[in-house]
Amino acid sequence: MKNLKKKVILTSCVFTMIFSVSASISAAQDSTQNLPSKSIVPYDVPVGYGAMGWDWPTTGETISDGWGWTGSRFHKGIDIAVYKQNVYAAADGEVLGSGVYSDSVQYVTIKHDQNAIEPGNTHNKLVSRYLHLVKGSQKVKKGDRVNQGQTIGTSGNSGASDPGKDNNYHLHFDINNKSAEFPSNNDTIDPMLFYPYNFGSIPNIVLDNM
Ligand SMILES: [Zn+2]
Repeated sequence: MKNLKKKVILTSCVFTMIFSVSASISAAQDSTQNLPSKSIVPYDVPVGYGAMGWDWPTTGETISDGWGWTGSRFHKGIDIAVYKQNVYAAADGEVLGSGVYSDSVQYVTIKHDQNAIEPGNTHNKLVSRYLHLVKGSQKVKKGDRVNQGQTIGTSGNSGASDPGKDNNYHLHFDINNKSAEFPSNNDTIDPMLFYPYNFGSIPNIVLDNM
């Protein structure tokens, strides 16, 4: 009787040990799977500006000219090759300007509700610009509230801001981080950072304060 009792206790001990070891292995696997990687950010996970959920500003997706330096010229935004398509407010905000620049570029500018999020620059509103619109197509005026996705005008080819591209129909779209209607080169942000889902080949950036 004593021996039988010992056997039962021993058997149950071994069973418990096996069970607890296998349970802890599966728990370890689960916790590994749930750990986010700190060094690799998958392209389809929006972070930073990509997490703001901005709308694409028109219907076409062909980028004919990107943001940044090309030779000696700094392009403040992206050019989207579209012919007389609706132009949409990329996010909620207030119309900062609507009309024509002195170089005959028809435009709309929107000051958004969201702040720039770079470290050290968390107090300036983001401003987007939509240039080369069809003359008189602007559907909003200075001071209007606009909702994300609202049609604000029609893309065209007004003005001559892009050398070599003057007569090409396209929407120039830029975003700046200084609440300014007329951004300097240093004020603009690559708009593609805002669209991680639409354009998977563009890597996201991780910002310090996010
Ligand atoms: Zn442009």
